[in-house]
Amino acid sequence: MNDNPYSTAVLAWYQANARDLPWRDPDASPWSVLVSEIMLQQTPVVRVLPAWEAWLRRWPTPAALAAEPSGEAVRMWNRLGYPRRALNLHACARTIVERHGGEVPDDHAELLALPGVGPYTAAAVASFAFGQRHAVLDTNVRRVLARAVSGVQYPPKAQTRAEVALAEALLPEEPAVAARWAVAVMELGALVCTARSPACPSCPIAADCAWRAAGRPAYDGPPRRGQTYAGTDRQVRGRLLAVLRDSPGPVAKPALDAVWDEPVQRERALDALVADGLVDPLDDGTYALPG
Ligand code: SF4
Repeated sequence: MNDNPYSTAVLAWYQANARDLPWRDPDASPWSVLVSEIMLQQTPVVRVLPAWEAWLRRWPTPAALAAEPSGEAVRMWNRLGYPRRALNLHACARTIVERHGGEVPDDHAELLALPGVGPYTAAAVASFAFGQRHAVLDTNVRRVLARAVSGVQYPPKAQTRAEVALAEALLPEEPAVAARWAVAVMELGALVCTARSPACPSCPIAADCAWRAAGRPAYDGPPRRGQTYAGTDRQVRGRLLAVLRDSPGPVAKPALDAVWDEPVQRERALDALVADGLVDPLDDGTYALPG
């Protein structure tokens, strides 16, 4: 049963238009789905694809990753950004081996208990890897529901309980259909109901979209800040980590100092990397990826 006013149209659209992404393959392992979800949290699909393939080639199971030092995960993460996710995946792999016999758990609460796995990722893995019925709310889904159901251009900045309740109310009863709805509505947000230029004329739910019916009123909430990167501490941290990743062994401080002229910001960025466990300061004054 496709029981919400949008699901029949969205599921049919997905059937015809979904991107052929490898982690959506019916044979994709739960581990590969978990890796994809952690990578996709803050990185676009085109950049995730080659990194995901390389990662799974090297570490096809949690046990394979758990057997290596966490620094190798950071090195392999390369330029995907937000590299704490590499440490989280490594910690996930070790926890999965220690507590779950090397198999990604299918229980939502056990998924949520894994390092770095929040409500979204737990719901996504339970739904996409195990076909369960969960509200899976990422930015794409939140935007589609805000427009189609609530009639506003953008969802609130931080996720609200009302959004979760709405997403749960829309979930089809049948778990397999609910899981397909979850990925389909997400894909609709990624490909059609995009943030800046929603393609309403080719949208399968245009006739039932509250925002469109209201004449697409302009957003009037608090200012929406785009993410800047140039000149930020995040950029400095990225450069520092790149030096360490590209070096086979520990790196002397001057090699790190060379990546950024401004010393206060540079030291702050290096301190943050050390505090996050992404870089180890060694006793001889050099720096290395974690062992
Ligand atoms: S009609 Fe337009 S705004 Fe409404 S859900 Fe479709 S693409 Fe989004």
